[in-house]
Amino acid sequence: MDGLDRRDFIKSVAGVAALSTAEFAAAASAAKTGPVFLATWPHGKPAVDRAAEVFQSGGSLMDAVEKGINVAEDDPRIMSVGYGGLPNEDGEVELDAAIMNGTLHRAGSVCALHSIKNPISVARLVIEKTRHTTLAGEGAYQFALKEGFKPMQLLTPASLQKWLDWRATPNHEQYWINADNHDTIGLVATDGKGHVVSGCSTSGSAWKIHGRVGDSPLVGCGVYADDNVGATSATGDGDIMTNYCTSVSIVHNMARGASPQDACEDLLKHMAETDPKNREAFVAVIAMDKQGRIGALSMNAPLTPAQPGFQYAVWQNGESKLVNAAAMY
Ligand code: ASP
Repeated sequence: MDGLDRRDFIKSVAGVAALSTAEFAAAASAAKTGPVFLATWPHGKPAVDRAAEVFQSGGSLMDAVEKGINVAEDDPRIMSVGYGGLPNEDGEVELDAAIMNGTLHRAGSVCALHSIKNPISVARLVIEKTRHTTLAGEGAYQFALKEGFKPMQLLTPASLQKWLDWRATPNHEQYWINADNHDTIGLVATDGKGHVVSGCSTSGSAWKIHGRVGDSPLVGCGVYADDNVGATSATGDGDIMTNYCTSVSIVHNMARGASPQDACEDLLKHMAETDPKNREAFVAVIAMDKQGRIGALSMNAPLTPAQPGFQYAVWQNGESKLVNAAAMY
């Protein structure tokens, strides 16, 4: 484990009762970083930049995560999120998203939402306007319309062409058991004062069966945030990761004292031990504790021949960078 673990932190906080006011203030600021924004994949970089900009202009952490993710949802070149995301096997784009507020311990999510390019914004309104947590399919769509979202065609010429090419591929039915498009945006954030938020948005597996829901919009799978501990998100094969409640498992590992990196490692090791086939799976996770320490890990590298493994973007102290994550195997 790196840095201060949770038990040491609790001990150090307990110890501050004996400190002077000045010493207490110094101890408190040492335990907290400034704001930190962490996101999956290269398209996470413009997202963390936007999130930081929103937060620094006075927006809440929820505003920052939502608006950061909107950048990826709005970009037609990103074929795994929002507008331009690859469709299901019937040629329809179905989007999943979730956002969780670690202070309130409250999440909102939408699954299989069609015709609306910003599912993360709809997911946030599920928190703010309803007593529900998750809305799916047509119900999510009708809710979005009532909230003023404008329906649109989410297929772009490029994503339509990819779907047509897939349909024209002999034996394309094989995708019923093995889809291959994993580039979800997950974005986790802290305000540097112990508040954390996690958000995630995706078009899911390309050519998926109509109605398929992956890990991304499921609370505890694609997102989890708890101000007592930290926040996490995941990207990769949601049909596998859902079975491990990836995000909440990592948060629970951190709550037991693991650093964010060790917490990610524990979970991926468990996945590989319970089913050795998972060593070959597309699985990648990001984690941040409430002190702003981060972890990021993929099961294997490279995830695809075309990619240099899993990369994440991090914004801290006014600067963002793209980093190659460690791989388990
Ligand atoms: N986890 C997403 C899903 O399975 C896909 C991804 O991360 O690219 O729907």
